[in-house]
Amino acid sequence: MDENRYDLMVAGMGPAGITAAIFAQRLGLKTVVFGDVPGGSVYMIEALTNFPGLTGEVSGTQFGTLAFAQAQQEGASFPMARLERLGAEKDGFRGIDVNGSRYRAPAAIAATGRTPKPLPGITTDLRGVHFCSVCDGPLYRDKNAVLAVVGGTNAAAQHALTIARVAQKVLMICRLPSLPMDAAHRSQVEARENIVIMENTTVTGLKGTDQVEAVLVSDAQNAAAEVPVDGVFLAVGWQPNTQFLDLEVDRNAEGYLLTDGRLMTSFPGLFAAGDVRDTDLYQVLTACADGARAATHVMEFLNRR
Ligand SMILES: Cc1cc2nc3c(=O)[nH]c(=O)nc-3n(C[C@H](O)[C@H](O)[C@H](O)COP(=O)(O)OP(=O)(O)OC[C@H]3O[C@@H](n4cnc5c(N)ncnc54)[C@H](O)[C@@H]3O)c2cc1C
Repeated sequence: MDENRYDLMVAGMGPAGITAAIFAQRLGLKTVVFGDVPGGSVYMIEALTNFPGLTGEVSGTQFGTLAFAQAQQEGASFPMARLERLGAEKDGFRGIDVNGSRYRAPAAIAATGRTPKPLPGITTDLRGVHFCSVCDGPLYRDKNAVLAVVGGTNAAAQHALTIARVAQKVLMICRLPSLPMDAAHRSQVEARENIVIMENTTVTGLKGTDQVEAVLVSDAQNAAAEVPVDGVFLAVGWQPNTQFLDLEVDRNAEGYLLTDGRLMTSFPGLFAAGDVRDTDLYQVLTACADGARAATHVMEFLNRR
């Protein structure tokens, strides 16, 4: 049976995982990184923003490819396969990838990101459908745009407040009779004159051939309507990618991994970095910083053993 021993297993080839690999290798840790897309979620970003020095001229694909090449140069191993399971054994972890190859290491980093929850039964692969207001809101600056936010949670409120700065009008569409956000968010949303709250309204579809043109909705009385929009931000939730963990690890109410100040989870030797962990900003910059810090703390952890 194929058994590979490393100092560190990293699950996820996004900014967090690749940065962790670069730092770990430079710290002398023999590192294997699991995943199938160099750059992870950044691969689908047309122009990477919110990263110092990059002003929109670098695509996520270019960024991911360069970071991947850098980690390879540092000597990290990339089986180009996702990690199927990560479990514990005496003195460390055992991993099995989707090809059935087995790996062992005394430390591991979960850097597997998160996946947007879909709108049940509705296709969302049109241009103008977004999941990240901080990233994509600026696309609508100076365009007199009418934008919709689907959802009514605190996260949805934050999307609405972010894009209300650039849009002519923001429609907050929520299927519940009252937005399920806290009072502080509600009062901020209500204070913005260009945010229109549409409660009791269910999104039944999106209209458009290539670019989204309208949101199809129905109200509590099942009356259907077509609301023209220039863009839609979906805020019906995200789910952290933790299905591969065969370990008891503390999580927050939404399933994100809880970490201590050194980015270690409640399971000794398992660290978490980037969007998969309970954090307050989901961006490339913060994911990279997490990866660098997690690798450094892995080294300290291994030195203490
Ligand atoms: C449309 C969009 C646009 C964005 N634009 C920007 C932007 O302009 N600027 C910015 O700073 N941020 C942007 N973001 C946010 C940014 O992409 C994320 O914050 C960042 O990629 C998080 O990095 P990560 O490494 O934690 O996770 P990810 O980049 O999500 O990488 C994790 C990878 O691990 C994979 N994975 C899951 N399970 C496993 C497993 N078991 N084994 C191996 N791999 C696994 C996932 O599929 C994924 O490919 C954008 C996000 C989206 C969705």
